[in-house]
Amino acid sequence: MLVYDHILVRYGELALKGKNRTSFEKRLVQNIKGTLKEFTLLRLRRTFGRIVIELNGQDHIPVVDKLKHIFGIHSFSLAVRVENDLEQMKQAALQVIQTNEKPVRTFKIQARRAYKDYPIDSQKLNHHIGGYVLSQTESIRVDVHNPDIEVKVEVRESGTYITSGQFEGAGGLPVGSSGKVLLMLSGGIDSPVAGYMTLKRGAELEVIHFHSPPFTNERAKQKVIDLAKTLTKFGGNIKLHLVPFTEIQQQIHKNIPTNYEMTIMRRMMLRISEELAKKTKALAIASGESLGQVASQTLHSMHTINEVTNYPIIRPLVTMDKLEVIEWAKKIGTYEISILPYEDCCTIFLPAESKTKPKREHANKFEQYIEIEQFIQKAVDETEVLTIEGGSNSEQLVEELL
Ligand code: ATP
Ligand code: MG
Repeated sequence: MLVYDHILVRYGELALKGKNRTSFEKRLVQNIKGTLKEFTLLRLRRTFGRIVIELNGQDHIPVVDKLKHIFGIHSFSLAVRVENDLEQMKQAALQVIQTNEKPVRTFKIQARRAYKDYPIDSQKLNHHIGGYVLSQTESIRVDVHNPDIEVKVEVRESGTYITSGQFEGAGGLPVGSSGKVLLMLSGGIDSPVAGYMTLKRGAELEVIHFHSPPFTNERAKQKVIDLAKTLTKFGGNIKLHLVPFTEIQQQIHKNIPTNYEMTIMRRMMLRISEELAKKTKALAIASGESLGQVASQTLHSMHTINEVTNYPIIRPLVTMDKLEVIEWAKKIGTYEISILPYEDCCTIFLPAESKTKPKREHANKFEQYIEIEQFIQKAVDETEVLTIEGGSNSEQLVEELL
């Protein structure tokens, strides 16, 4: 029988953030509340350096599953809460050992007195509780180096929490604590991973996708929606901006020398992304580029493509090998969606060969053949916006904090 009635949440990195700490903690609490809002029995409490979730009869398994995806959580444990009373601590520790899933031959009590006004220090607590467990059991002994079970006893002002073992959290910073980033999301393997990594550092995401109807179809659009939906698991609702790109691509195809088509197309994407970033108050643009992976991602290409914007560009995958990216994609659940066949707007009109060392002067010269400003404005005006619903509502959270 399971005795645990609470979950104790730890959030390592936040403790380092000095003055920002309170607002980070608040943000994390709000994100947890948002993600767990379907579990109406739960009660959340913040106690210095920890967040405590009272299960109140709620089965812990689905709650644990969701907690694993929330950025900002370092680790968490199932816990029994008792009053700051030695007898109750002894009973609870014994219960935790006796109801452990695996048989226990050796144990260790690790007490920590975070609430210094409690009169018994941690050494003495270890001694009293350990002694009680020994007196109530047969054939189990203490092993401080390599015990089958380590029972932690945390004495806090709000009560004492008894845990054994812990789940690893997703790490990073709470989503929404670092400002907003506009993610360039294709239907490929890389950009969803880049989105995950950007969320991990606490950024809130909006997403931009370029499509070229009728050359790209509804399935391709649905794929991007599904990818964005997967990302909501880590960061709440996501706004998806679908930019019609057909006309621009046709103009490029008609007017730009073949081996510069890809470079100019990327420059147009970036210009439009910057406009949209400004409009949505995003402070940076994120992409799934990885150095040297394909012609458009050589250093020369990046140099020439990047010329058109002063916006910070976040490229979380820039140093990763494809195999590493694939591993991440599998882990976060985007891989299976990304490998579905679809038409990519980027490959529709493009020649097989692109220049791997495009030059800024040439790009600037060729761009005089197209009406850049007019196309940017039109693309922005005709952009369709969808809100992809997720676990938590980050829009609302931002408003609450302002
Ligand atoms: P991905 O797997 O993310 O598609 P990739 O390795 O296929 O990346 P490219 O197709 O060259 O590389 O794209 C590089 C980056 O440009 C992508 O990671 C993405 O951030 C952005 N991008 C490419 N196509 C689109 C698109 N149709 N809409 C929005 N962003 C795009
Ligand atoms: Mg791609």
